[in-house]
Amino acid sequence: MLHVTDICKTYHMGTVAVPALNGVSLTIEAGEFVAIMGPSGSGKSTLLQILGLLDVPTSGSYRLQGQEVSRLTDDELAAWRGRSFGFVFQQFHLLPRATALENVMLPRLYTPGTNADRARAETLLHEVGLGTRMQHRSNELSGGQQQRVAIARALINDPPIILADEPTGNLDSASEKDIMAILSQMNARGMIVVLVTHELEIAKHAHRIVRMRDGMIQSIDRVKSLNRPHVTAGQITMTPAPPPPAFEFRPKELVAHFKEAARALLANKVRSGLSMLGILIGVGAVLAMLALGEGARESVRARLASMGSNLLIMRPGAAQVGGVALQVGAVTRLTMDDAAAIGQLPGVNRVAPTVSERGQIVASTGNWNTQILGTTPEYSVMRASQPVLGRFFSDEDVKKRARVALIGMTPLRELYGRENPVGTSIKINKVNFEIIGILPVKGATAFRDQDDI
Ligand code: ADP
Ligand code: MG
Repeated sequence: MLHVTDICKTYHMGTVAVPALNGVSLTIEAGEFVAIMGPSGSGKSTLLQILGLLDVPTSGSYRLQGQEVSRLTDDELAAWRGRSFGFVFQQFHLLPRATALENVMLPRLYTPGTNADRARAETLLHEVGLGTRMQHRSNELSGGQQQRVAIARALINDPPIILADEPTGNLDSASEKDIMAILSQMNARGMIVVLVTHELEIAKHAHRIVRMRDGMIQSIDRVKSLNRPHVTAGQITMTPAPPPPAFEFRPKELVAHFKEAARALLANKVRSGLSMLGILIGVGAVLAMLALGEGARESVRARLASMGSNLLIMRPGAAQVGGVALQVGAVTRLTMDDAAAIGQLPGVNRVAPTVSERGQIVASTGNWNTQILGTTPEYSVMRASQPVLGRFFSDEDVKKRARVALIGMTPLRELYGRENPVGTSIKINKVNFEIIGILPVKGATAFRDQDDI
C-alpha cells in the first residue's frame, strides 16, 4: 500500500542544509497499524508529512498503491491527500470558534464533489463519544474532547489511511486510553493507522514499531502479527487523483468563509470596533485633506476669475521717463476704431475699450479720490463686473452718451456708509453723473485695491 524507498529530506535554512531524513525505506501493508518512535528531532514528523503528501521528499521514491507520488504537483498532491488521508495532530488544529459539528464537516467543504454530510458528521461524533457536545465550540471542549473531534474530522471523508502525530502528547491518561481505543477500532475496521508516539505503552497497540534516530530507521520490531483475515487490500479503495480542478467557484465555500469572518469579528467586539474606528478616522482624514485641497483650488480659481480670465490687455505706449513709468493709459492713443478692428480678429470674443485715470469724486456726503474708469457694456462680462445692485452700462447709454456711473465698494463705504446710492447723483471731476449700480467685491491684489473704483 504505502511503499517508500530510500527517502531523503533536507530542509534549507538560508545557506545551512538541515538533513531531516536520510535514506528511509519502509513498506506499510493494508490493514496495518504502525507506530513510529524515536527521540525528538529524529525525523518522525517529517516522515509522517511525506507519507501524508503534505510534503515531498528531496530524493527517493514513494509509491502509494502502486503509483509513484513523490513528484506530483501541489494540486495533484492535494487531490490525493483529501481522499486518502485523515490527519490527527498533537495540537488538534481545530477552528476555535466553530462548533464541533462544523469542525468535523470542514474537510467536506474543501473536497470537490462532496456535500456537507451533516448526518455522517453526527454519526462520527457519536462514535467518538461526543454525541452531547456537537454544538459546543471547540474552545469550550477539553483537550481529550478536542482530539476526539479532530479524529472525527479525520474520518469524515472515509480515508483508508489515518496519520496521527503524537495525538495523545497533550492529554491525560484517561483521554489517552479513549483516543487509542478509537484508533485501534478504526484499524480493526481495516484502516491503515500510522502513529507517532513517545510512549512504548501506546506503541504496543501497533503491529509493528519503527524506531528512528537521526533521520534513519534504526529498527523495526513486530509486536503483533497482522492476522486479520477479514481485511484485504481490496477492501480499501484508494481513489486515484482526479485531474487537478481548474478554478471553480463554489458558493458554499464562500458562505463558509463569510461565516467564519463574521464569527471572528463578533468574537472580538472591542478589537473589531477599534479597528473600524481606526479605518474610519484614516479615511476621514484623507477625505478632509482632499476637501481642503479642493477648497483651496476653488478659492484660487475664484480669485483668478474675479480678475477676468482669458484676458489680453493692450495698452497704448506706457511712457517711461528715466526708468519711472508714467500713468499708464492716461494718454489715449488707441481709438474706438482700433477697438472695433481688434474685435474682427480671429479668436477674439469681446473687446472693451477703457480709459482710466485718478480723479476726485464728490457726493453730498463727502469726497474721495479714486480710480475713474470709462468703458463699454462688454467690460462687465470680460472683467466679471456684473453689478450686485442696479445695472451695468447699456448700449443705449453708450449711444446717448449718458452720464451714468457704477461705484466700487471702497468709495461706496467711504461716501455712503450703509445707504443705497443707486439713483443719486455724484460729481466726477465736477461733472454730474447718475449712479446706476454697485460693482461686486473683488478684493485686493498685491498691487492695489480693486474695489477702489
Ligand atoms: P521529530 O518529529 O522526530 O521530532 P522532525 O521530523 O520534526 O522531528 O524534524 C527533524 C529535523 O528536521 C529536526 O532537526 C528539525 O529541526 C528539522 N526540521 C523539521 N521541520 C523543519 C523545517 N520546516 N525547516 C527546517 N528544519 C526543519
Ligand atoms: Mg514531531
